[in-house]
Amino acid sequence: MELKKIIVASGNEGKIKELRSILKGVKVISMREAGITGNIEENGSSFKENALIKAKAVSEKTGEAVLADDSGLCVDFLGGAPGIYSARFSGEGSAANRALLLKRMQGAEDRSAHFECAVCLYMPDGKTYFGTGKTYGKILEEECGEGGFGYDPLFYSDDLNKSFGQASAEEKNGVSHRNRAINDLLSKI
Ligand code: IMP
Repeated sequence: MELKKIIVASGNEGKIKELRSILKGVKVISMREAGITGNIEENGSSFKENALIKAKAVSEKTGEAVLADDSGLCVDFLGGAPGIYSARFSGEGSAANRALLLKRMQGAEDRSAHFECAVCLYMPDGKTYFGTGKTYGKILEEECGEGGFGYDPLFYSDDLNKSFGQASAEEKNGVSHRNRAINDLLSKI
């Protein structure tokens, strides 16, 4: 199947920007540009379930092919948290989420972590396709770099040997959980 145009079920500009550069040749329209406002309740119990909930809700409203991603940071020392709650970890946005993560990691010897992403493509006829991807690294003891979004300045990538906050967009996209999930999806459609 050749994808020409998709709506991305997300209000996160950082993610949409990354998806646009990963999905070169596909017209990527944000939910806002498609005229969809309001929050979709993400009450699934996995990244995959949440991606399906978001993609289905927007496809049913628009009648278009919709791509949704659900992603988060899973930290070994915290038993996989914040995981699917990454965006809502502190309840007060990205900077507060990073501060809370550093606080919870105080004294932790094992700082291993990975980002995980599930993507769901929901077609107007109800057909669904999924892709998943991970990228591994460590949680730094302080923020490093100002690029990216979310937890990027605290995530030292094993692939890049620098933090995602220090990486260029191209470098991050080359190894990111989102890119790996999209490529997994594209291999299945
Ligand atoms: P979602 O919008 O429910 O998928 O929430 C994803 C949350 O996980 C984001 O708000 C970030 O806090 C975090 N996250 C996911 N992917 C990344 C990434 O590539 N870099 C940094 N943080 C990320």
